[in-house]
Amino acid sequence: MKVLVINCGSSSLKFQLIDAASETLIAKGLCERIGIDGSQLVYTPVGGEKTTKVSPMPDHTAAVKMVLEALCDESIGVVKSLDEIKAVGHRIVHGGEKFAASCILTDEVIATIEECSDLAPLHNPANLIGISACKELMPNVPMVGVFDTAFHQTMPEKAYLYGLPYEYYEKYKVRRYGFHGTSHSYVSSQAAGLLGKAPEEINTIVCHLGNGASVSAVQKGKCVDTSMGLTPLEGLIMGTRSGDIDPAIIEFLAGKENKSLSDIMAVLNKKSGVLGLSGGFSSDFRDLEDAKDKGDAAAVRTLEAFCYRVAKYIGAYTAAMNGVDAVVFTAGVGENSALVRSMICEQYLGYLGVTLDQEANHKRGEALVISSNEEGPKVMVIPTDEELMIARDTYALLQ
Ligand code: ADP
Repeated sequence: MKVLVINCGSSSLKFQLIDAASETLIAKGLCERIGIDGSQLVYTPVGGEKTTKVSPMPDHTAAVKMVLEALCDESIGVVKSLDEIKAVGHRIVHGGEKFAASCILTDEVIATIEECSDLAPLHNPANLIGISACKELMPNVPMVGVFDTAFHQTMPEKAYLYGLPYEYYEKYKVRRYGFHGTSHSYVSSQAAGLLGKAPEEINTIVCHLGNGASVSAVQKGKCVDTSMGLTPLEGLIMGTRSGDIDPAIIEFLAGKENKSLSDIMAVLNKKSGVLGLSGGFSSDFRDLEDAKDKGDAAAVRTLEAFCYRVAKYIGAYTAAMNGVDAVVFTAGVGENSALVRSMICEQYLGYLGVTLDQEANHKRGEALVISSNEEGPKVMVIPTDEELMIARDTYALLQ
C-alpha cells in the first residue's frame, strides 16, 4: 500500500511517499514559502535526481496539487496515476487528552482536532489546512491522523500535573502533554530491538535533540515523563526556544524592556535557546561546534549550558524510573553531534558507569551502541523516522 505522509506547517509542507507494506521510501520532498513570494517545491524520487520547481503556491491546496503532479509526472514521477496512492497519513501536533493513539480522520475526529487548536494555535490550524487540501484533491482516499502528543498520554497524573490551582486543569486542561511522541515511540522500541529485548523489558531515556528538543522517560515501553509541557516551549534549551525558565522572568523582562506579553513570548520562542545564549550567533550546532573549536567563549558557554540541561533531565528520569537500561540520542543534533554526546556522557553519566566508545561515537547514519561499559546503561544513537511511523500507523489502521 502506497501511503503519502504529510507534515504541514504554516508556510511549509513536507511529504514522503512510502510503500507501507515493505516500509520503503519511494519519493520525498518539501514545499516552502507557501502563501509567500518565491514558493518552491523540492522533490526527490528515490534513486533519482533532486529537482526544484519555483512556482507560486498561494495556499496549501496549490502546494498539495504540485506535490501530486510531481508524483505522477511522466519523467520524474513515481506513480502512473493518483489511484496508486491508497492512503494519506497526517502528522498532527496536538491531540490534547482526546487522542492516545493514531486514528482515521472522520469528520468527527477532524472537529475534535479543531477543538485542540486552542492548545497549539501555531501548529494545529496548519495541520488542519493540510487535511482539507488533501480532502479536496483526493476526496476518496482515506486519511489517518498521527499525533505528536499521543505516545505521552500514558504519563501518570503526578508527571503531567503542574503545581497550579487544580481548577485550571479541570477548566482548561492546563497540564503537560509532551511532543515528538512519534519519534520517542519509534526510537524507544528500536532501542529495545538493539538490545535484543522486548520494549516491556527495559527502561529507556530518549534524547530527541533537534532544533526542537525533548527528553522522555519510557518505562517498560510506556512513556512516564517527558520534558515538553502544555506547549513545546518547556524543557531543554533548544535551537531558539528557552526551555525551562522561572516564570517570573516574563513579567520582569516585560517591565524592563517595555514589551507586551506576546513580545516576550516571541523572544522565548524565537530568540532564545542556543541562538539567544550565543548572543545571537547561531541556532545551528554545526556553527557552534566550529566556533568552539576556535575557542569562541560564547559557543563554549552555549554548548555547556545545553549539555548540562540534557544531563539534568537524564538524571531526573533515571530517578523517575528507578534505573535506566538505555540512553538514546536521536534527531539532528543527537544523531550527528559526537561532541554533544561526548560532553553529556563523559561529564555527567560516569556515576551510572557509562564509558563511551569514541570510535563508535564518531560513526554516522546507523543505529548502534556507542558505550563500552558492560554494566550500567547502554548509550545508543538511533536515527529517528517519524514519517515511517506515520506510514506504519496509517497502514495498520486501514488494513
Ligand atoms: P527539527 O526537525 O526540529 O527542525 P532536526 O532534527 O532536523 O530539527 O535538527 C536540526 C539541527 O540538527 C540543526 O539545526 C543542527 O543544529 C543540527 N545538526 C544537523 N547536522 C549536524 C551535524 N553534522 N553536526 C551537528 N549538528 C547538526
